[in-house]
Amino acid sequence: MSEWAALPKVELHLHLEGAAPAAFIRGLAAEKREDISGIFGKDGNYAWRDFPHFLKVYEAACSVLRGPQDYHRLVLAVMEESAAAGVVYSECFLSPDFCGGGDPGAWAEYLAAIREAAAEGERSCGLTLRGIATCIRHLGPERAKRAALCAAETAGDFLTGFGIAGDETLLTPADFLWAFDCAREAGLRITAHAGEWQGPGGIRDTLRALRPERLGHGVRAIEDLALVDELAEAGTVLEVCPGSNVALGLYRDFRAHPIHELDRRGVRVTINTDDPPFFRTSMIREYEELHRAFDWDEGQFRRLARQALDAAFCDADTKSRIAKKLEG
Ligand SMILES: [Zn+2]
Repeated sequence: MSEWAALPKVELHLHLEGAAPAAFIRGLAAEKREDISGIFGKDGNYAWRDFPHFLKVYEAACSVLRGPQDYHRLVLAVMEESAAAGVVYSECFLSPDFCGGGDPGAWAEYLAAIREAAAEGERSCGLTLRGIATCIRHLGPERAKRAALCAAETAGDFLTGFGIAGDETLLTPADFLWAFDCAREAGLRITAHAGEWQGPGGIRDTLRALRPERLGHGVRAIEDLALVDELAEAGTVLEVCPGSNVALGLYRDFRAHPIHELDRRGVRVTINTDDPPFFRTSMIREYEELHRAFDWDEGQFRRLARQALDAAFCDADTKSRIAKKLEG
């Protein structure tokens, strides 16, 4: 077993569908008598060649997830994986577009099932889960409005945030202003994917238009050191997913990844897996690779876990409960 397995971890950037274990999706497809065997390699894991193909494989895997009951089972499967990697608190992205097609009634049913599973998972594996609703950038501002309305109606102790995922190169953050204002007014905390496929300009546009507390990725800020200083000063938290960036070819390997430099320059970075089975990663592997690349030690990992918890969107009581676990 890895020396990092038992270290308590906090994860802030995980897409629920993207975290679906391959065996779970294969089982679900078999039950429904649907043949999606083409998306798996000989070893049983998801297999893809390049980014366009990755999106196809991801979509095919998601296609077997239909209805609140499937999501209930998915949440339990994902929580089990995360807990096995030592994660004690996790925030995962949920999409009202995938869960009920943007209809508020259908979304409420999905969310109830997800929430029930989260409570069940917390009892069985000791991991606390919270949800962040996301709109999908490439589906456009109208769909984002509907997603925001769904999220606003269900904001509370479980659904704590609102964000935007999807193709970063399409449209502009300002196109989604209405959705983000709606979510903010409902008390939801704000995060946004930026600085993965677009450089510093995309990050600046996102910060200006959507005023997020956290950025999904944000790592390409490193291409503009003035922006790095601004992020450090403002305390903007980066949900960094090194293994995902390496798998998708943004950086050659972990050593070439800017997480270490961003941390050194005072940016509040956190460690996350994004879509772990698709990128053959886990929180344990992220820790192992970061240890190998930058000689990060237990003290550094504990500090970043604490930093992630500080940036979590859950309420103060939950935070102090998790803080005790991080000390253990
Ligand atoms: Zn992501």
